This record gives sequence, C-alpha cells and structure tokens, in this order.
Amino acid sequence: MNIAVKAPAVWRRLARPVAVIGAGIAGLTAAAELERRGLQAAVFETGRAVGGMAASFKDADGYSYDFGAHFVSNRLARALGAEDISHTVGHYGEAVALRGRSYAYPFGLAASPRYAASALAARLKPGSVESAADWFRNAYGAALAEDVAIPLAEAWSGAPASELSPAVGQKLSAGVLKTLYLKAASRLTGRAVCNGYSHEMPESAAVYHVYPEGGVSRLLEPTLKRVGHRVALESRVERIFVEGGRVVAVRVNGREVGVSAAVSTAPVHVLPRLVEGTDKLDELARFRYRPMIFVNLRFEGRNLLPDTMLWVPDRSQPFFRVTEAPFSMPWLAPEGRTQLTFDIGCEVGDAHWSMSDEDLARICLDGLCRIYPHLRARYIGAGGMLKTPFAYPVYLSRYERRRQEFARETGVAGLYSIGRNGEFAHLLMEDIYWRTLKRMQQVADYVGQDA
Ligand SMILES: Cc1cc2nc3c(=O)[nH]c(=O)nc-3n(C[C@H](O)[C@H](O)[C@H](O)COP(=O)(O)OP(=O)(O)OC[C@H]3O[C@@H](n4cnc5c(N)ncnc54)[C@H](O)[C@@H]3O)c2cc1C
Repeated sequence: MNIAVKAPAVWRRLARPVAVIGAGIAGLTAAAELERRGLQAAVFETGRAVGGMAASFKDADGYSYDFGAHFVSNRLARALGAEDISHTVGHYGEAVALRGRSYAYPFGLAASPRYAASALAARLKPGSVESAADWFRNAYGAALAEDVAIPLAEAWSGAPASELSPAVGQKLSAGVLKTLYLKAASRLTGRAVCNGYSHEMPESAAVYHVYPEGGVSRLLEPTLKRVGHRVALESRVERIFVEGGRVVAVRVNGREVGVSAAVSTAPVHVLPRLVEGTDKLDELARFRYRPMIFVNLRFEGRNLLPDTMLWVPDRSQPFFRVTEAPFSMPWLAPEGRTQLTFDIGCEVGDAHWSMSDEDLARICLDGLCRIYPHLRARYIGAGGMLKTPFAYPVYLSRYERRRQEFARETGVAGLYSIGRNGEFAHLLMEDIYWRTLKRMQQVADYVGQDA
C-alpha cells in the first residue's frame, strides 16, 4: 500500500501547510479531513510505509496476522470507505484461564459463587478509590480483583495496580446490562456485535466486527487514495518550532518548513524533545508506555482456545493474553490449522526483550502447555514475532492530573496531539477516527483565525 511519495517534494509546493506528523490511521484521517475542509496538509512519516500500528502481514505458508488491531467495526469500515472489502465476523468471545479452568468472560466468572459473594459485599460497602486497585476491588469485589483484574492490569502495565490511576478501570468497564444486551444481539444476528470498542459512538446490534480482505492495513487504502499525494515517507519530523507561544515551523530531515499548525501522532513523551521554544510540555517526558512483544505460534487444528481471546492472570506465566484470531476470522490460517498470538508485557532491554525468537517461542509453548498439555503434540512451529516500545500508555497516578490537562489541550497554540500514542489514551481505531474528525474542527478554527 505505497501510494505515498518517497521524497518530501509535497510540502515544498505548499504555502504554510498544516504539518501532520505520522501516517497511521490518525494522521491519514486528519489529512483527509483537513483537505475536505479546504486546508492543505503535509503528512510526514518517518517509516517506509504508511499505516503505523495498522500493519498486516501474510507469509508464504498462508498465515496472516496484524500488528495491533485485529478487530474493527463495520461502522469504521464504512466511514473509511472500506466496507466493500470487509467480511462480516460471525463470532467473537473472551475467556479467562484460572487455576486449571476456563471461565467465559464476563458472565462465567460472575456466576462463580465466590466471586458473586465478594462483588455483592463490595457493592454494599464500597471503599474509597485512590488507585486502579481500589477501583477494581469496588467494581468487581476483592476476590475477582485479586485473582483476575489486578494481576492482568499489572502484567499489562508493568506497574503495581496501587500506583495506577482509577481511570484504568473506568476505561475498561462495560456495564453488565449493556454486555447482556450485546451478547444476546450477537446470538440473534449471527454477527459478532462490538462491545467496548467505541466510547465516542453508541454501540448497538447494528455495530459488529468485520475484517478487511487482506488485512487490517487495507482499511486505510481509500483514505490513502485521497491524500497519498500529501504524504512524504522516510521524512522524520525532528523539531517543531514555537515562537511567541505558537507553532511556526517544523524541521524534517534537516530542512525547515513554515507551517500554520502541527498535528502530531507521535508518542507524547517525545514531544518535549521535539518542541523547541517552550517548556510547557516538559512534564510529558515522565509519561510511560508499556513495551510489548507479540509471539505467533502455529498449530494443527482449529478453535484450540475456549474462545477468540484468552486472558491469563497467572503471574508465573510470561504472557497475559493469548489470541486465536482464526477462531473469529477462519481465513487467517490455512485449512485445518491455526495461529495463536501471545502478548508479553516487558521493558526495552529486559530479559524478554533481549530473548531470541526461538526462546520466546519455547517459553510461550511451555506456558500454554501448562494450561493445555495436549497442545504440545499439535505444535507446528513459530510464526512472526513483533516488538514495540509503545504498545500501551500507562496511567500512573503520579501524573494523572497532567494527563487530564493534556487530554483537553497541548497548551501550545497551533499544536495538536492525536491518535493512540498522541492522545496517550487506550484508543481503538474507531474512536481515533471520530476523535480526529472533531479535533480537525479545532485546527480549522485555529488556522482560520490565524490567516
Ligand atoms: C496489541 C494491540 C492490539 C490492538 N488491537 C486493536 C483492535 O483489535 N482494534 C482496534 O481498533 N485497535 C486496536 N489497537 C489499537 C490500534 O492499533 C491503534 O490505536 C492505531 O493503529 C493507532 O493509530 P495512530 O495513527 O494513532 O498511531 P500509529 O499507528 O502508531 O501511527 C503513528 C505514526 O507516526 C509515525 N511517527 C512517529 N514519530 C514521527 C516523527 N517524529 N516524524 C514522522 N513520523 C513519525 C510512526 O512511524 C507511525 O507510523 C491495538 C493496539 C495494540 C498495541
């Protein structure tokens, strides 16, 4: 999907364009919306291809997988103009592996008498909420919080739940009644109805999972057709210059370009290093992202997990989640075979980060076989391994106040920070899309005033 140009010729022709930093879904959506509003966007992407985290891979053996997103809604596909190439997904479900048993999530867990009693006790006598750990205990009861929610939050974030902000829990929660309704709608319609995928738009039986033929990256093709001529690849934005409190220029691959505004999708903790001429963003350097490794292993057979996604809150395991994407999208693996993706939370340079692919495959297989010993005989071999230093923004209580301020505005006139890493928010693609459209209204207002 490389319609974008290789050299930064685009922006030389433009008079003070809006610089868009990054060509993932956020940057491309921003550029298309700015152009729709009659503004000129110049998109600078440091990589050799567009898409960012929305990258898909297919190998010669017939296995496909995506970098981050596997699960997208028909509403997003329609909004992006990619509905025609998208297949409807018939089933999606989650389970939790706990002490040798699998529980359907969330109702299988809720039906356990121990967890139900503890949740009721918490409802009758809620405690004060200072951290994510408190939030989980209040919302789910102490038993479920200690056995499932807290170990998962800690593996996923790399921080003690007592140091995480309550916002972590609030972001993850979906109401029981809503979940019941959406599960029932799924059964009735034979479509995997989305639950918890959008906080910007209502979820209903009419919003369900789809998967684009050829991978999630193809979702961006229609947008790229519209704005590809504005995208410069291998063009790293090295500086954003601020004068008199306003963004005036960017430096790309050593050249300065005058701009009317800058829209960044880069991780927020790099902004203090990118932005020159103000110290207003300095505190963002403390914000942490959780690095992650994704290990793909291949097996004979299908539907080897109890459901599409298996949560593993066992602290002695290297991974906290295993996904069998072919459970929901059978076309992602050859007939009679499947692929499991293991998520390992880590730190850059730690033992897991530095481990060889063979050893990563071995520890994941050994861990899986502690839960399901019979799967060892079905193991075929390892697939692709992916690593990223910026998988998840970590909401630590110590910078929660600053995070909330930053969520409202960057504090620098003409600088906007959008997308998952740019907003420092656990956003899925659909909400990135809707939120970016809204933000571009602000950019248009600002540039209009500035003209
Ligand atoms: C493990 C995982 C699972 C996920 N699962 C789902 C899912 O099932 N469904 C879903 O909808 N979403 C999912 N997501 C989220 C989704 O993948 C992301 O939210 C989305 O792809 C982020 O898009 P973005 O444009 O904000 O950022 P990115 O895709 O990260 O794009 C940012 C771009 O900016 C570029 N860049 C950075 N700095 C510079 C610079 N200085 N100069 C020029 N370019 C720069 C980068 O190279 C990159 O291409 C998942 C994410 C993860 C990590």
